[in-house]
Amino acid sequence: MFVPQELARELVRLSHAERPREACGVLVGRRTARGFRLHALHPGPNLHPRPHEGFELDPGAVVAAEREARAAGLERIGFFHSHPAGPPTPSRADREGAWPAELALIVGRDSSGRIRTCAYRTQPEGWHALTLVPLRGGSGKRFA
Ligand SMILES: [Zn+2]
Repeated sequence: MFVPQELARELVRLSHAERPREACGVLVGRRTARGFRLHALHPGPNLHPRPHEGFELDPGAVVAAEREARAAGLERIGFFHSHPAGPPTPSRADREGAWPAELALIVGRDSSGRIRTCAYRTQPEGWHALTLVPLRGGSGKRFA
């Protein structure tokens, strides 16, 4: 999947700002012949009863993100969230709660404590890791 560097940095910043809670939001972009292309991040409130252990994105934030995406000729391509203290790998709850055939971006920490973002394609039979291809230049946009 293709991610403008500016949005990759913004994702880390959002994740950091929400600590110790998990950050979450909608990924807006396009499905192209070469893969998913991220155009915007729509962060939203985490309504999970224990927001440092999981995430439950406010459905109103999803609807608002989809409306803005359509207005811009884009679509919802998936969701992002953070693991403030854990690795960027999907938890059981992540896998069970995922919408199929979408993207999941998870910001977490590797074994040496460095922040790392991983991309997955969510499929009912399992999640497949995707390569993150950074795009240079200011072509990304963050809505509200
Ligand atoms: Zn998770």
